[in-house]
Amino acid sequence: MQKVKGTYDVLPQHSSQWLFLEQHIHQIMKKHHISYVRTPVFEYYDVFHRQTEASDMVTKETYDFDDRGGRKITLRPEGTAGVIRSIVENKLITPNQILKTYYLGANYRYERPQKGRYREFYQTGIEMIGEKDAMLDAELIQIAYELISKLGIQHIVVKLNHLGDVNSREAYKDALKAFLEPLKDQLSDESKNRLTTNPLRILDSKIPSDQALLKDAPHFASYISDEDKVYFKEILEILTKYNIPFEVDEKLVRGLDYYSHVVFEVQTQIEGFGSQNALGGGGRYDNLVSELGGPDVSGIGFALGLERLLLACELQDISFDDVNNIEVSVLHLDKHVKKEAYEVYKFLLEHQIKADFDFSNKAFKTQLKNAIQSNIPYVIIIGEEEVSNKTVQIKNLNTQTQETIMQDEILNYMNKK
Ligand code: AMP
Repeated sequence: MQKVKGTYDVLPQHSSQWLFLEQHIHQIMKKHHISYVRTPVFEYYDVFHRQTEASDMVTKETYDFDDRGGRKITLRPEGTAGVIRSIVENKLITPNQILKTYYLGANYRYERPQKGRYREFYQTGIEMIGEKDAMLDAELIQIAYELISKLGIQHIVVKLNHLGDVNSREAYKDALKAFLEPLKDQLSDESKNRLTTNPLRILDSKIPSDQALLKDAPHFASYISDEDKVYFKEILEILTKYNIPFEVDEKLVRGLDYYSHVVFEVQTQIEGFGSQNALGGGGRYDNLVSELGGPDVSGIGFALGLERLLLACELQDISFDDVNNIEVSVLHLDKHVKKEAYEVYKFLLEHQIKADFDFSNKAFKTQLKNAIQSNIPYVIIIGEEEVSNKTVQIKNLNTQTQETIMQDEILNYMNKK
């Protein structure tokens, strides 16, 4: 049996990095008073396939199926829509308060797998709903930046753009279409299709010939109201004040269709990342909440990909504290004293020492070899002599020194070392 294409297993040798990353995320969210929500990995098809949503993700990449009861179901390809569905269904939006929530979980997209791109992948993200305010937008971008930079990841930059409100976005879309229509034959096949489905996405085409055609395209900035320009400027001023490295990128549109106003992406410039260099991104949405049956309120959100965060850490040689690190393993010299050795192990655990016990009935030599292979720094060895004298032998596997101590001195010894 093999795993499904585009999926991966988190094996014991890597699982502590995952646990560390997840704890890091929960801690930062807690610090900012953002509440955790967890929604199902599958939703009714309509949650993701709304009329206005024509992104590549929902038209081509979702896992859709009918369940045995004939319901049309979709595995969630992203976090936002399910979270908003839940917030609306549970009536969590109140007129006087901003709702701040975050999620962490698996998403599913039928994309072509490559480095940093999987069919099952994990995202964490924040949704802040109930106010449209430049300070709130800047705060969200700063938290996204903090989540990444506090891991020790360097060479990151926030790319931002302002798409204007829905009207200016539509007006710009028409202008771009009118500009590209006569050049249609010279566009790549992908961009040609997008001319009808999602013309804004042509702006972030990675194909050089498409980019060359776009050189004289109309500029987004000329379609944006003065009020929106002031709003955007305020965001940039706050980011400058708080030392967030950013660049305004007029071609940044992001894949999801529901964004308007500010959109952003946190990109890494680490070598070896390849084309998938966005660690995460997000933007403001004006209509999503009402489209999913909620009140007419604006929200802003972002999502970060956990696999890419770990890849960035790996490429920059960032090592994590091993959250499972065992300090000592208790071994038995023969099976007549296994129960007594087990008692010592339980005693250590009770006193918060990270201990392990060799449950195997293997020879002592094998037990020791296993402890050495697992990089456990100390072993406690118990044989018949130790049991009758109420002692233990304690061996430092790094220095190879061994001494005999009284059992009631173990805690002292372990806490002092
Ligand atoms: P998106 O939801 O497409 O805006 O993506 C937000 C972030 O999720 C990206 O910047 C990636 O870090 C991550 N991501 C998106 N799609 C994938 C995928 N197929 N595999 C791994 N990470 C992904």
